[in-house]
Parts: sequence; structure tokens; C-alpha cells
Amino acid sequence: MDQISRPTDPRADVVPRIDEAARRIAALPRVEDAPEAGLAVLREAGLLDVAARETAEGYRYDPPWRTVLRLLARIGGADLSLGRLLEGHLNALQLVALYGSEAQKRHVLASVRAGTLLGVWGADTEPRFAVSGADSGELRLSGAKRYASGLGLVGLALVPYEDEARVSHLLLLPVDDPERQDGAPWRMGGMRGSRSGTFRFEGLTIDESAARVGAPGDYRREPFFVGGIWRCAAAQLGAVERLVEILAAELTASERLQHPLQSARVGEAIMAARDARLNVEAAAEAVETASVDAELAVSFAALARLRVEKAALDVIELVQRGLGLPAFHEDHAAERIMRDLAVYLRQANPDALLLDQARRLSRRLPDLLG
Ligand SMILES: Cc1cc2nc3c(=O)[nH]c(=O)nc-3n(C[C@H](O)[C@H](O)[C@H](O)COP(=O)(O)OP(=O)(O)OC[C@H]3O[C@@H](n4cnc5c(N)ncnc54)[C@H](O)[C@@H]3O)c2cc1C
Repeated sequence: MDQISRPTDPRADVVPRIDEAARRIAALPRVEDAPEAGLAVLREAGLLDVAARETAEGYRYDPPWRTVLRLLARIGGADLSLGRLLEGHLNALQLVALYGSEAQKRHVLASVRAGTLLGVWGADTEPRFAVSGADSGELRLSGAKRYASGLGLVGLALVPYEDEARVSHLLLLPVDDPERQDGAPWRMGGMRGSRSGTFRFEGLTIDESAARVGAPGDYRREPFFVGGIWRCAAAQLGAVERLVEILAAELTASERLQHPLQSARVGEAIMAARDARLNVEAAAEAVETASVDAELAVSFAALARLRVEKAALDVIELVQRGLGLPAFHEDHAAERIMRDLAVYLRQANPDALLLDQARRLSRRLPDLLG
């Protein structure tokens, strides 16, 4: 296997390393069945710790948003499941940097440098994840989390929960016990390589000071909670852009692009992808640089998620109509991308997001429309 040289400075030459890693991941055989190989490429290219800059207090999360966007879009375009895993990893890195103790930051940085993948496992199921014994120094865990990406791949997960007063709390937990992992519920048409499923916490006891990250309520602080969905949109954007490339290349090669309706499809697909990209860029800058207030940054992230969803659905339809039946063959370059994208687009409660933003943004039109 050809190697990507890993420099001493984690940020040096990051763009070519991202592009090279994406190229290698896209060329992997059956990455859907074996995400370990793709993960090995990310580790080897030094992309798991590229966002963490070592400091006396542990580390800082301060990568340029353009670098993170490129990383997620390129890896998402090469394999959306790996893009999803990387998204969870970066989310966890940022949350620990924002709210973790020095000891937690040192632990996470050392783990990530040693190759550990991080995740954020928030989605609840029955029995609901619960914590008892608070303030006794030791926490007793029960219940489970579902849709947890990276079973068997993620070593440390941030696990949020709400107390009786509906205040959020965040725990950093080791999640590498195979006995507690159940991938069987994840019988999905796409995103199989994300290795998602259920993790059971029943009967686990943990040291409270090591596990508890930040103060009550920190996890939901904006613009990083809802605002963080710009990263998910960035990984999806990469898949959308890859589909546009495939559509244009195939219609050109088959000389069908000359047909005005096929040209129109390519034009529509390019516009959808550009529209999505501009929204993701605006959201990334707003959330990561505080160039606008937190409420508006969250709105930009919500708009980016909804625009990428619409663009992706439009581009999938354009590819299916433009390329026809061959695009459904499992060996076709677009087939897995479309399957993965259709599944990954299904994020929590898009209706509520739109309604909420409609209300908020109607009060902020001067900030939006110039
Ligand atoms: C590939 C993949 C990986 C994931 N990995 C993780 C992970 O690592 N960690 C994690 O925590 N989660 C993960 N998730 C889960 C994710 O966070 C969401 O929980 C999940 O995607 C929600 O999808 P849903 O379609 O069930 O959402 P829903 O919110 O159920 O939405 C479905 C539809 O119902 C509508 N709706 C929602 N609520 C109502 C209501 N009350 N009344 C009427 N209509 C309603 C919505 O607008 C939408 O139209 C992952 C998801 C995917 C696809």
C-alpha cells in the first residue's frame, strides 16, 4: 500500500494530504464492508489529530474552517460513511476542547494521536440512557444509545443525557467493549460502513471526575450545538459534488451531453451543488469564527443543512434520470454514493427546524437580505 508521509507539524501540507487520502479511500475495494481500511488511511495521513493543536492545558481546537470543510467534503465524497465517522470525531474533539478539563484534554489528545476515533452518541432508545449516583464520585450507568456510529471503530464517545429538569449533561466514556455493541438493528440500505447500531451501558460504573465533561447545560450551548450541523452538511456536500462530477463525466464520455435536456440536467446539478456549497461555507464561517452572533450562526447552519438536503435530493434525481438504469448497478460509481446519501440525509426533525428558522429569520431579514 502506498504511504502518505506524515509531517511533524500536524497542519503542514494538510490540503494535499486530504486530497491524497480521499483519492486512496475512493480507490479502496469494498470500503462499505471494511471501513477499517479507510480509517487506516485517515490515521496514516495524520488527519485524526489535525484539528487539535497541543497547548500547556491539553489542546485547542482551532483549525481554519476551510480546512475542516475540505476535509469533510473530500472524505465524504470518497466515502460518506467515513465522512460521517470523521464528522463525529471532529464534533467530539471540539466539544472536549471547549468544555473538557485539562486532564480530559490531555487524555483525548494522547488517545487520538495513538489512533483512537471519537464519536458523539446522543440518540436515545429504550431503555433510555440514565445515570445515577451523581456526587458520590462514581456514576452508575444504565440504558442504551442507538444509531451510534462507529461500533467497534470508536474508542471514546461523548454521551449526552438530560436530567429530570431537562438540563443537558455530557460524559466521556470508553466504548470499545464488543459485548455491549449491537450492530444488528442497523439493517439500512446505505451508510453500512458507518457501522452504526446500539450500545448498551447497563451496569457500567465510572469515575465521575474523569467522565463528566463541562458544566450542566454546556452541551447545548450555541453556536456549537445546533450550529455544528454545518459539518454534517459539509460531508453530504462532498457526496453531492462527487455525483455532479460523475454525471458530467459520464454524459460527456457517452456524447449524450450534447442533447439539450441532458445539458440542462448537468446545469441544474451544478447550480444545486454550488447553492449548497455557498450555504455550507457561510455556515462554517459564521459558526467557527463568530463573525455573526450565535443565533444567526445557528440559522446559517440550519439553512445549510436544509439546502444541502434539497440539493442532494435534486441531484440524485438528475443522476438517475440522466444516466438511467446503469447508475443503479452496484459497480457503478454513483450507486453507493446515492444510497449512502439518501440515508445520511435523514437527520432529526427537518420540519421543526424549518418552522423554527422561519420564525426566527422573519425577525432578522435585514441581516440576511442586505
Ligand atoms: C448514517 C447515520 C449515522 C448516525 N450516527 C449517529 C451518531 O453517531 N450519534 C447519534 O446520536 N445519532 C446518530 N444518527 C442519528 C441522528 O442523529 C438522528 O437521530 C436520526 O438521523 C433521526 O432521523 P429520523 O428520520 O428518525 O428523524 P425524525 O426526527 O423522526 O424525522 C422523521 C420525519 O418525521 C418528522 N417529525 C419528527 N418529529 C415529529 C413529530 N413530533 N410529529 C410529526 N412529525 C415529526 C420529521 O420532520 C421528518 O419529516 C445517525 C443517523 C444516520 C443516518
